Amino acid sequence: MQTVQLDELQAEQLYELGNKHMWLPFTQMKDYEENPLIIASGEGVRVKDIHEKEYLDAYSSLWLNVHGHRKEEINEAIKNQLDSIAHSTLLGAMNIPSIKLAARLIEIAPKSLSRVFYSDSGATSVEIAIKMAYQYWQNEGNKKKTKFVALSNGYHGDTVGAMSVGAIDLYHRMYSKLMFASYTIPFPSAYHHPTGNGDIAKEESLQAVRELFEEKSDEIAGVFVESMVQGAGGMNLMPPGYLKGLEKLCREFDVFLIVDEVATGFGRTGKMFAVEHEGVQPDIMTIAKGITGGYLPIAATLTSERIYNAFYADYSEMKTFFHGHSYTGNQLGCAAALANLDIFERENLVDEASQKSSYISEKLEQIIALPHVGDVRQLGLICGIELVEEKATKKAFPAEKRVAYQATIRMREKGLLTRPLGDVIVFMPPLAASYSELDEMLSIIKDAIEEISSLHP
Ligand SMILES: *Cc1c(COP(=O)(O)O)cnc(C)c1O
Repeated sequence: MQTVQLDELQAEQLYELGNKHMWLPFTQMKDYEENPLIIASGEGVRVKDIHEKEYLDAYSSLWLNVHGHRKEEINEAIKNQLDSIAHSTLLGAMNIPSIKLAARLIEIAPKSLSRVFYSDSGATSVEIAIKMAYQYWQNEGNKKKTKFVALSNGYHGDTVGAMSVGAIDLYHRMYSKLMFASYTIPFPSAYHHPTGNGDIAKEESLQAVRELFEEKSDEIAGVFVESMVQGAGGMNLMPPGYLKGLEKLCREFDVFLIVDEVATGFGRTGKMFAVEHEGVQPDIMTIAKGITGGYLPIAATLTSERIYNAFYADYSEMKTFFHGHSYTGNQLGCAAALANLDIFERENLVDEASQKSSYISEKLEQIIALPHVGDVRQLGLICGIELVEEKATKKAFPAEKRVAYQATIRMREKGLLTRPLGDVIVFMPPLAASYSELDEMLSIIKDAIEEISSLHP
């Protein structure tokens, strides 16, 4: 790994300037000051801090990284694109890599989708989905369909619209008066259902959707759902058949099915897109995180010809989609994304990820067996390890103990980076992690959980 050489004085200066001027996302800065971390470089599945201590990137730099850091082909693609142009606007003008990428995305996306609207983050791709679905019904003269349905514990990003179609109390309660109101349906989590039975949870949730639709579908524009796995809500898995059941209800009542593949897209679950597990055809699909291999901020909202056509008219009809962002369709990002997709093809990465997923399942048996591990949920290379005080009763640790957080700090000391979601430890390695790197990661995670557990017998 090419390293960044800093002497102790330079390192001290960075800490001082950082503490004076930085404010980090989803971070209590008082915690950060106790355990500061400044990354200097990365290669493969490892990153190094400014003291050249190495860490395994077990959360893919927050669920983004696919091929590891400093992947040669992506670096080259960005450098080559720089020789032509870094950025020009997509407002009223196309550019070469964004056209090529749109065509490639439609090739690999579910058949229902034929149009690509670019943006720059998962949250903006969701804002676009909200406004697109809303305006579709307005443009069609159906002025009543203005509401959305969310799933409990859903997460679609941190902008106000995206929060309004999400439902995580900890993140959203504070802003409730800012948000527009959505209907909320219980997410069918097997582990958290009183019966522990995924099928019962599924039927209850679908029944709730049916009852809501029977009463209110004339005012509902669309349903927002994370594809197969709820990420930020704690890595909760949908029982098999649930997403398909939701799709059928959406068709029956003419409500748009809006699927968020921001975290699950690009091979993460062992399929290119997680909807493929259920053969679901969304009306709108949002993608971001893995799209550039974790390199640059590109996102997209994919939709159908039906929706596109409702906006296509003479200007005077006022059906234009008045939405855009400065960096929409950025050439460097699109070039990185094209290189990313080339590597997927050449390295047969989706199948690889699916095989690694089976390998991890076996290894996770040892973690499930630990006394304070209540549940391990996994789909592909997405895993959540839920810590509990009492395994038999699923009783949670007192929140103020922050046991999962303490465990991740212990992992960091041992040379591995990840973050908790409440009591759930996230294990989400880059798709390219080798079998031995996966072993290394899982062994650190297991040791750290055991050590922290022994403090809470
Ligand atoms: C991360 C995430 C988002 C938000 O993406 P950002 O790029 O952080 O705005 C939206 N939906 C899901 C499912 C996510 O995991």
